[in-house]
Amino acid sequence: MLIVKKFGGSSVADKERILNVAERCVEEYKKGNDVVVVLSAMGKTTDHLIDMAHDINPNPSKREMDMLLATGEQTSVALMSMAMATLGVPSVSLNAFQVAMHTSSSYGNARFKRIDSDRIRHELDNKKIVIVTGFQGVNKYDDITTLGRGGSDTTAVALAAALHADACEIYTDVEGVYTADPRVVPNAKKMKEITYDEMLELATLGAKVLHNRSVEMAKKYGVQLVVRSSLNRAEGTVVKEDVDVESMLVSGVAVDKNAARVALIGLKDEPGIAFKVFDLLGKKNINVDVILQSIGRDGTKDISFTVARDDVAEVEKILEANRTRLTFEKLETDTTVAKVSVVGAGMQSNAGVAGMMFEALYNVGVNIRMIATSEIRITVLIDEADVDTATKAVHDKFIED
Ligand code: ADP
Ligand code: ASP
Ligand code: MG
Repeated sequence: MLIVKKFGGSSVADKERILNVAERCVEEYKKGNDVVVVLSAMGKTTDHLIDMAHDINPNPSKREMDMLLATGEQTSVALMSMAMATLGVPSVSLNAFQVAMHTSSSYGNARFKRIDSDRIRHELDNKKIVIVTGFQGVNKYDDITTLGRGGSDTTAVALAAALHADACEIYTDVEGVYTADPRVVPNAKKMKEITYDEMLELATLGAKVLHNRSVEMAKKYGVQLVVRSSLNRAEGTVVKEDVDVESMLVSGVAVDKNAARVALIGLKDEPGIAFKVFDLLGKKNINVDVILQSIGRDGTKDISFTVARDDVAEVEKILEANRTRLTFEKLETDTTVAKVSVVGAGMQSNAGVAGMMFEALYNVGVNIRMIATSEIRITVLIDEADVDTATKAVHDKFIED
């Protein structure tokens, strides 16, 4: 069997944790399996590198940022190989350049295009455990790129697909995928299995237990995932196409604290305005989520929408530069908001879900600022200060003990 095992930052945070991971991988290897290990940077290394960069230059180039951030993963893979050597097992660490993991050129947000499997195959044939840096790639300029925060999950899935692995296991600091973040909602329940579609919605809406691109890619290439703990042997959560049990009304609650609201006030109430606004943002790769447009009055209207908080400065720049063309009177941004979403395939055939969610929020006195729905999710935008109260209330409304 060929097994890809990915360990996140907290699973390799210090010497003891690195040795623990080394032992678990060696155990797999000694069963006669080919083992490919994907690692994140140790603990909060990536955050610290970002802080160091901003301390020197508040507006660093994206290329140099990626060059810097990629060092975190390179440290972990080298230390892991050294740890395995102390256990008497041959291994080799490889970075994205050495494997040849080709990505698009967009720094900080690159996507995999093609992965060479030759080097990894060669090392596996020589009976080595292969340890690969997560989160990074190489673009057509031979520059290092990164995949976006949390991107090591995507490296693992991409490698599992390229190597036709028999299993892809994502080890983290919780025992699997829960009905809500178990750190916020203590009575959240671990799911035995979840579909790609539901997991993709949860991940996209803020449940950072899996990088959303990793789920997208797993679905595309049919890579079944297991999410489980690196600290114990508890059975994890399987992410796959179909689940056996009839799907519940709501499978989970996701929270996104990296949200911001942008409002364009006093736009001309005429055809083409919304197109111009969102076309401009789309061309700059800005993802827009919840959108609300007011009813036109006296020839003007307002449009508000949410974007990732990291994008706010750029959004302001783009919109201000086009003020006359877009015809707005005022631009407002609010970075004290958060999104809470319920996700579940079961809600497609159930009319009452939105009402239940709003009732749960009303019961705890949380005000809703914006609402968005799709076939399998309902999202509300609320004040960031209300997030934990809202999440618990919504969770308890749908998921009984
Ligand atoms: P890693 O470093 O292993 O990649 P992450 O911090 O990226 O770990 O993701 C794991 C964290 O995701 C957990 O510690 C948990 O707080 C958070 N999380 C958010 N939503 C969920 C959920 N629905 N199920 C499990 N964990 C969740
Ligand atoms: N080290 C990177 C991050 O913190 C990638 C990852 O952990 O998946 O975002
Ligand atoms: Mg992660």
